[in-house]
Amino acid sequence: MKDFYPWFLGAYGENHQLVEDLVNEAMRDHMYWRRNFHPESQPPIPTAAQFTPEYQEFVALLKSEMYRLSADLKAAIPFFSPRYIGHMASDLLIPGVVARIATLLYNPNHVSEDASPATIEKELEVGEQLAEMLGYSLSGPIKAFGHMTSGGTIANYEGLKNLMAARLFPVALGEAARELDADLKWEGQLIRDISPRRLANMSVEEALDIRAAAHKSAQELGIQNWADLVDAQRYETLGLTEFQRRHPELGRLRVMVPASAHYSWEKAMKLMGLGTSNLDMIAVDMDMRMELESLQQLLDYAHDAKDTVLLVVPVLGTTEFGAIDPVDGVVAARQTCRLRGQEFGIHLDAAWGGYLRSLFKAEDGTLRPHAELKAEFKYFPSAEVYNAFDATSKTDSATIDPHKLAFIPYPAGAYIARNRDIVEFVRQDAAYVFDGESADDSRFRKLGQYIMEGSKPGSTVASAYITHRVIPLNHKGFGKIIGNSIHSCEYFWDVAQAWAARMADKVVLAMPFEPDTNIACFALNPTGNRDLKVANAFGKELLKKLGPVQDGPIQNRSFIVSSTRLVEEHYGPRTHEAHKLLGLDAPAPGDESLLVLRHTLMNPWLLTPNEDGSNYIDLYFEFLEEIVLEKLAHFRFG
Ligand SMILES: *Cc1c(COP(=O)(O)O)cnc(C)c1O
Repeated sequence: MKDFYPWFLGAYGENHQLVEDLVNEAMRDHMYWRRNFHPESQPPIPTAAQFTPEYQEFVALLKSEMYRLSADLKAAIPFFSPRYIGHMASDLLIPGVVARIATLLYNPNHVSEDASPATIEKELEVGEQLAEMLGYSLSGPIKAFGHMTSGGTIANYEGLKNLMAARLFPVALGEAARELDADLKWEGQLIRDISPRRLANMSVEEALDIRAAAHKSAQELGIQNWADLVDAQRYETLGLTEFQRRHPELGRLRVMVPASAHYSWEKAMKLMGLGTSNLDMIAVDMDMRMELESLQQLLDYAHDAKDTVLLVVPVLGTTEFGAIDPVDGVVAARQTCRLRGQEFGIHLDAAWGGYLRSLFKAEDGTLRPHAELKAEFKYFPSAEVYNAFDATSKTDSATIDPHKLAFIPYPAGAYIARNRDIVEFVRQDAAYVFDGESADDSRFRKLGQYIMEGSKPGSTVASAYITHRVIPLNHKGFGKIIGNSIHSCEYFWDVAQAWAARMADKVVLAMPFEPDTNIACFALNPTGNRDLKVANAFGKELLKKLGPVQDGPIQNRSFIVSSTRLVEEHYGPRTHEAHKLLGLDAPAPGDESLLVLRHTLMNPWLLTPNEDGSNYIDLYFEFLEEIVLEKLAHFRFG
């Protein structure tokens, strides 16, 4: 018996009775709850209404539309099936589904506790559960805070917005101090004497500290409107254009992401008005991870140009390849940069890989030793991957998506900050609380004041909350699911190598890099072909049988995978290596990019043996062989 047998709905709805019981129970319980609110009153819908023709006509219409919807939904993608190894979606966890349905009926709105007194605390608790999983502290002077979003995209926007606000605040504060010409002090120095470059290079903690110190100074000097004076200087008030015009010392406001970053970062740059030309792409190495030398070059360049680096974004599990960026290396680079007065925030994009950290966590919350983890797997985790997971606690904030590796329904993302006070820089109601008061956590019950979204569902929160309650975020809980997924990927890798050797005289299979986690990609090229266009055309032919969209019902599909391109601009050296492995001519400028099949190996049932003993990964490669041979028989070269 696998620990997770009772956790999922199951590829054949094996656990449907449990789900049905829980949902029915919740449904009935909700109706009784309604009846118990002023049971002395008359129910507004008369009992006899159901016997009227109008009522029955409506029921008939509703039923026929529901039948149609139900029929249409049969064309949906069967994410639950181990035959689906495409995008980041899979079977669903029962607690996530039943808690969602149960809470939907109550319809709490987590914009504020006024509209969600029963559940708002659960959102803050989910934030804490995730913070703890990432290694952020929940006690002591610096405490983490987190909340749910509709997904990783919004959480990334928030990561940018909050760090940008924190980084630019001291600049506004310095300007206000100079204008006022008062003796405001921070750490024994006069704030108006602090150089603009210094103010533009403060950490989150320094920014919070100077904010509190200036406020205290202002109070002592009897300056009543200090907070308003600072506000008047902030970019949030002036607009970014005017703010930058007044502060040429900031240079360009840069954000650095690896070339492998999710496209939400480009959207974020547009949304914030920073512009995509200020999004620096850090080169990616042969393992598809952020290259630290490239990061250092970009940081050096920005330093020499007197530009401001707002933040650097390591990705914990890239969307295309599941690669783990060297988070530890980014943290170390920041330490070095600080020695020359250069600061940057670190936002961890762990939308995909955040839950992987559950596998690294012992029940007492400590990080499990590398050797202990290694003993459970064949390849995983490499020293680089382990060190990256070890360093997540040193980042400033993170994005993490429960609707990906927590197997709960959309929409469920989360934004987590290492230091909860960072949100004071973006707080909407501007109550000007400093120190003592800001330590009061009840402020977060007015969540809408601190986050990007307004009205938002409590039902998604219940989903994540109940899931985390019954499946702990450590190696004994979620780690079981995640570990299984890593095992699936290792098995996939081995089978792919054997398949490649067996098929070598017909087709070349190249896995351009070893997977860091649970996403595996490979490209195929008919043996002897040197032309990229031909290889891609061959791949596209295969995708007609493997891609999600094709003629005919989805029920006819044997396996569904996804695909992506090795874009040379992003993956330069790796692209060349892949061409070499495939026997293709080196890519020339202007060439199209190499098509690769992408397999997300998150489904919990991939390694389940069928009657003949072969599991779904074996079956996939059998199917691949079948269609490759079939396509080769009809395929025209050139
Ligand atoms: C999926 C993903 C995102 C975007 O998340 P959504 O939930 O789709 O908005 C951002 N970053 C990474 C690394 C991702 O994998």
